[in-house]
Amino acid sequence: AVEIRGVRKSYGAHEVLRGVDLTVRSGEVVTVIGPSGSGKSTLLRVVNHLESLDAGTVHIDGELIGYRLRRNMLHALPDREVRKQRSRIGFVFQQFNLFPHLTVLDNVTLAPLSTHGRTAGKRRDRKEVEAEARVLLERVGIGELADAYPRRLSGGQQQRVAIARALALRPRVILFDEPTSALDPELVGEVLDVIRDLAHGGTALVIVTHEIGFAREIADTVVFLDAGAIVEQGTPQSVLDNPRHPRTRAFLSRVR
Ligand code: ATP
Ligand code: MG
Repeated sequence: AVEIRGVRKSYGAHEVLRGVDLTVRSGEVVTVIGPSGSGKSTLLRVVNHLESLDAGTVHIDGELIGYRLRRNMLHALPDREVRKQRSRIGFVFQQFNLFPHLTVLDNVTLAPLSTHGRTAGKRRDRKEVEAEARVLLERVGIGELADAYPRRLSGGQQQRVAIARALALRPRVILFDEPTSALDPELVGEVLDVIRDLAHGGTALVIVTHEIGFAREIADTVVFLDAGAIVEQGTPQSVLDNPRHPRTRAFLSRVR
């Protein structure tokens, strides 16, 4: 499970996360919705410790992320340790972020073959990692593109590579930051189909999305974030169909 407790984050005088508490159980799908600037991307980034915290903690499967507790004080972990923690957290970005000079297969195998991808200190076998990567590429429907370079691929295909790359980490959680918002409308469906197939497969998914219909269909829990705080969370039925908070209602009426 991912356990976010009392997380605060400011940039200068601007408090972007104002005390966020959220638990995501293993296998649970949480979708995060909210206005532009409400802190959705920042929330994902603190889970991965791409941002330091001003207060609060993030634990994944009981492991404190980014810090070590010593004599009741939190001390930042060395970068090497943070990278090791990150190697078990999948992150899928709006802009795919593939390495242009690497083939599709090499994009997927890079992290698991790196030193940080070691499981229990053991370097993983290249043959085995590549075989697993090919299975993942089949699973996201692009097995035939293993040897292609990213620039030849459509946006939807590139995003499916990014999802396979996240899966190759054997992650405990995958964080998606608006995975379809950079795609042409006709390519959105193929990426949503892939994410739908991952749901409830044991890995926790946290999905920031503007696709309210998709959020309703896939989520166990919908979180509405506004001005750095969770205003409302619950089942899709409660948050999307019967929102209790006026700010949730106002947001939904604007986006629908
Ligand atoms: P969007 O829907 O537009 O992606 P968001 O909900 O993801 O918005 P964030 O990207 O988390 O919002 O940003 C929240 C606020 O924090 C914004 O006001 C943004 O300008 C500010 N912010 C984010 N990153 C930084 C940074 N590195 N330095 C300064 N301000 C930042
Ligand atoms: Mg964002």
